[in-house]
Amino acid sequence: MRFVSTRGDAAPATLSEAIAAGLAPDGGLYVPEQLPVLALADFEGRQSLPQIAARLLRPFFEGDALAAELDAICEEAFDFPAPLRDLGDGTFLLELFHGPTAAFKDFGARFLAACLARLRSGSEKPLTILVATSGDTGAAVGGAFHGMPNLRVLILYPDGRVSPRQAHQLGAFGDNVRALRVAGSFDDCQALVKRALNDAELQSRVPLSSANSISLGRLLPQMSYYAKAALDHFRAHGEKLNFAIPTGNLGNALACILARKIGLPIGEVLLATNANDVLPRFFDGGDYVPQASTATLANAMDVGAPSNFERLRWLYPDEDALRTSFRAISVDDATIQDTIQEVWDRHLFAICPHTATAIFALDSLALDGSWAVAATAHPAKFESIVEPLVGAKVAPPPALAELLARPSHTDPVPADYAVLVEVLEGD
Ligand SMILES: *Cc1c(COP(=O)(O)O)cnc(C)c1O
Repeated sequence: MRFVSTRGDAAPATLSEAIAAGLAPDGGLYVPEQLPVLALADFEGRQSLPQIAARLLRPFFEGDALAAELDAICEEAFDFPAPLRDLGDGTFLLELFHGPTAAFKDFGARFLAACLARLRSGSEKPLTILVATSGDTGAAVGGAFHGMPNLRVLILYPDGRVSPRQAHQLGAFGDNVRALRVAGSFDDCQALVKRALNDAELQSRVPLSSANSISLGRLLPQMSYYAKAALDHFRAHGEKLNFAIPTGNLGNALACILARKIGLPIGEVLLATNANDVLPRFFDGGDYVPQASTATLANAMDVGAPSNFERLRWLYPDEDALRTSFRAISVDDATIQDTIQEVWDRHLFAICPHTATAIFALDSLALDGSWAVAATAHPAKFESIVEPLVGAKVAPPPALAELLARPSHTDPVPADYAVLVEVLEGD
């Protein structure tokens, strides 16, 4: 299969090329030249997440250098579960937080790492993955690439603007993963990373790549857990499963929408955002107007210009058809807090602020059918928000606890490009 740019001005690329490049050379996003269609029978005898993932992704890897490695990549990347917890009344929680850094981004980051490790084996210089992060992405990427030969990660985060637990996590990997705490904002970090990724002269000496949410190497594998949940539900109940998904850059929700297009038994897809309501405005009939982002309690979704919207438009070229295909609901901070409390009172378990947006959106619409809410992070990652609301301690899951128990080291740097270059060339 070949991959083309959403903007149509780039030469078609193989999957390996598209994964290595990140963004297409014309500034667009890589999309498959055509989408495969799979039937239920294609998944016969396949039960586990890696098995279902490998079957689902096979058409995308056809003819690619990595095709023979796909089974091994899926086994390696998806070595933790994505269970469906039954909440009663036809509602389920799809728990996506059982990976090493307790957020759904572990799935995509680990798959990308498994691909890049194979693509880079045998190259002389290590490839450096540069990430600017406001929290979850940096941790997932650090965790995924930790210990991988020929690859290193440099994380840039805004000093004092991520939670203490997040900061500890970013500095706790060590070895080939290094974290810089930048005296500046997240935008400063992102500007430094963008400049380096566009600096051909620097890259002739220090090979660089990115791992942000537009990477196909993160997007495509995220279809797998929706496919498994929908197949399990269909096999048990003979009906489609609908999904409610906390949404920021639209990477997670787009994966679900792609899985549905490919033929998985997925019904409706409901998008939940925080107060950043660019998508709800559009789906309510307004224009698509990107905005500056607003800080909220669900900070991993503080996005004013969802980067994958361009892919959604490619998938639904007719704007009216796109508008009527999905619903999107914006949920403010006070409602996020109420929902965390209410779920605790009703079910006696804690949820994270992101997950709360989707639970509220679903409850507010009182829709028919069976629904799974994507639980995108473990509540223990956001303990300073969640614990006071539920009046109890929320214990971190084992993998996260282990990371938090390790020593942590991060280096302070000014928001200065020359300093970043020095660090990149340093070792
Ligand atoms: C990144 C993230 C989201 C948003 O996912 P997108 O793919 O950007 O829409 C939601 N919840 C959590 C916990 C996240 O880390």
